[in-house]
Amino acid sequence: MNWITEKLKRFKPKIKNLFRVKIGPEGKLWESCSCGAVLFKQDLKDNLYICNKCDKHHRIEPKERFQVFFDEGQFQEISPMLPAIDDPLLFTDSKSYGMRLRKAREDTGQHDSVMLATGKINNIYVVAGAMNFNFMGGSVGRAAGEAFVAGAEFAYANRLAYVFFSCSGGMRMQESNLSLMQMPRMIVAINSLKQEKLPFISVCLDPTTGGTTASVALLGDVNIAEPKALIAFAGARVIKETVREELPPGFQTAEYLQEKGQIDLIIQRKDLPKVISTLISQLTNKNKVFISDSNKINEQQQSPLGSITNASP
Ligand SMILES: [Zn+2]
Repeated sequence: MNWITEKLKRFKPKIKNLFRVKIGPEGKLWESCSCGAVLFKQDLKDNLYICNKCDKHHRIEPKERFQVFFDEGQFQEISPMLPAIDDPLLFTDSKSYGMRLRKAREDTGQHDSVMLATGKINNIYVVAGAMNFNFMGGSVGRAAGEAFVAGAEFAYANRLAYVFFSCSGGMRMQESNLSLMQMPRMIVAINSLKQEKLPFISVCLDPTTGGTTASVALLGDVNIAEPKALIAFAGARVIKETVREELPPGFQTAEYLQEKGQIDLIIQRKDLPKVISTLISQLTNKNKVFISDSNKINEQQQSPLGSITNASP
């Protein structure tokens, strides 16, 4: 180490302070986009977390998702049963699984990666589930599997459509086979809805990968994706190294999968409630709602949880 490095070491914190982003009461004021744009966080929020420069649909947490999805941002959370033990295998890698769970819970305010809610979209009651990528990469363990099944059971009991927003790195390795077992469990839950002719609408967000893609994400009566979402089972690099071929442009994007017939619709975030409510009304032949006139309602439904009084902020 020479004297220049020593000097730099001393000045570095001061230079860092000069350029530090100002932190407001709600965290950072600015958000950067992969296109290079620096966006005022409130503007980004007002635009449903979509970059107004490049149309990138930024990743959002389930609470924000439900706020932009349900009518007037009002919904009621459904609490699924929780597994009795958090860490059945006492799994430890560089940190223990218990520590990782505690950290994820502190950071997100969620108990696990899937959140469930019920509310109205264009006046039709639905159950919706959403994965939080910030909770251990949206991975599915026993708690997330249980939440998914609870959402399906709620839809089954109340004769509602089930909308699920996938955003996941796959199954949770820290729970090993116990997490893999969630795949058939979730598929059985979807099948029970199909037998009752209750719609299951899957929305693939960026990214939807691994066991989530291999189980629930592509089993919707209609499989929807947000623009440019990455949807894959294995990563592109692994595939490229295995097949030893150049991969086509846009490989594993929503647009590529739509071209190949794996995704039915690519819908802008702002249009999701309108399109999904129309699909549900057509699939169930209830509540005639049309894209051209979303206010045209023939039938009113009652909330399965009573009147929605505690609207989430
Ligand atoms: Zn952008």
